[in-house]
Amino acid sequence: MSDFQNYIDGKWVSSPAQIQNINPSDTNDIIGDYARADKAQAEEAIAAASAASESWRRSNIQQRFDSLDAIGTEILARKEELGRLLAREEGKTLPEAIGEAARAGQVFKFFAGEALRIQGEFMSSVRPGVEIEISREAVGVVGIITPWNFPIAIPAWKIAPALAYGNTVVFKPAELVPGSAWALSEIVSRSGLPEGVFNLVAGAGREVGQAMLDDPRVNAVSFTGSVGTGAAVAGACSARGAKFQLEMGGKNPLIVLADADMDNAVACALNGAYFSTGQRCTASSRLIIEASVHDQFVDALKTKVESLTVGNALDEGTQIGPVVDQRQFDQNARYLDIGKSEGADLVCGGDIVERKTPGFYMTPALFADTGNDMRVNQEEIFGPVATTIKAGDVEEALAIANDTAFGLSAGLCTTSLKSAVKFKRESRAGMVMVNLPTAGVDYHVPFGGAKGSSFGSREQGRYAAEFYTTVKTAYLGA
Ligand code: ADP
Repeated sequence: MSDFQNYIDGKWVSSPAQIQNINPSDTNDIIGDYARADKAQAEEAIAAASAASESWRRSNIQQRFDSLDAIGTEILARKEELGRLLAREEGKTLPEAIGEAARAGQVFKFFAGEALRIQGEFMSSVRPGVEIEISREAVGVVGIITPWNFPIAIPAWKIAPALAYGNTVVFKPAELVPGSAWALSEIVSRSGLPEGVFNLVAGAGREVGQAMLDDPRVNAVSFTGSVGTGAAVAGACSARGAKFQLEMGGKNPLIVLADADMDNAVACALNGAYFSTGQRCTASSRLIIEASVHDQFVDALKTKVESLTVGNALDEGTQIGPVVDQRQFDQNARYLDIGKSEGADLVCGGDIVERKTPGFYMTPALFADTGNDMRVNQEEIFGPVATTIKAGDVEEALAIANDTAFGLSAGLCTTSLKSAVKFKRESRAGMVMVNLPTAGVDYHVPFGGAKGSSFGSREQGRYAAEFYTTVKTAYLGA
């Protein structure tokens, strides 16, 4: 039996099967066997969340604040330990993982405060003797389905607002990273929430996730993951009229103009493209460089990329951890072959390398002077692989940046205010960054994209209320 059970209706329950949690920096290191729920258990969790929904939607906001604040406080106090677990199971470096754990704590603190600030409006009526109140109410039972690349921050930024606005939760984390999800759930389980308000059902997407999509008792689904699964979520939820919100892929451009501070531009590209092993939906995978500085930029970036230390996520000094698993490793290798067969010039990286422990180690790769229509520029790779694309001027650079099915994040490096303003207005991405990497966002403002990257209302900050509440208009006669 697993030591890491699922949490249903206020109780820890064992499951018929287990998920083996393997360290991608050392595949001999088994972090633990985690309970793998089946469809029946997913339905029990949904039933519990449904039964708890009516009283939790009317719960006292001080109670919500106290629980969320306690969760945030404990996560922040334990960020080093939680970060170590996260780095061990996901493979991002220890500093990145500790930063992510801290972020999760901050998110809970933020939404603790938001629970106290749920606002409505008071309006006059066009009819005499009538007054109108517009208020926000909980949606009901929220299904939360999360990916492996931010194993604690993404669950936090969905679970915290769901609870703050009075919803009950069924949480299904990604199979690859049950450890952080379990640790977070264990903290949530001790925060004073009534039974059934929060439920953890780790398990397979096709079984547990699908059960959540199909069950009429789940009123809303918040999903982050791949484009393909996002389409399945959209199909199932629309078919039964459930609310849904999708965060999916990116193919984020970083434009570098000739007038940019080149050291900063190279630093932005290096961070945006390769940190967290390129496994961020906001990663800068297309570097669009003004032609007059293209070769100089490629030389400078190549030098930096080649000096990055690839290694065990837990080792001090590691800058790029391993790829998360064999499947992703194979996908990266496949795209390196696709790039080469399309005629892209691989200037460095893409090598499979060995370290002291067996893991999925790959050197960060840069393709130079590619065409935007190549598959490596149109399809999300989700690894430490970036390309450069030459552009004649800011107009052409913007056109290339927007020529994609995605629109999550976009960046520009320039010292021209005129170009920065033009970019901010004309970029078709949900988040635009000037003289900053495309990845790396604040936790108190909206997160989300345009086109194929996102669907539904924004996550995070006050904008999260759009998804986790529904609006009621009350007419009060005399
Ligand atoms: P990735 O390729 O990054 O693993 P996925 O979209 O496959 O992205 O996974 C994101 C989340 O969606 C995971 O928690 C996964 O288990 C879940 N998932 C996968 N298939 C389904 C499905 N058919 N229904 C619901 N959830 C699913």
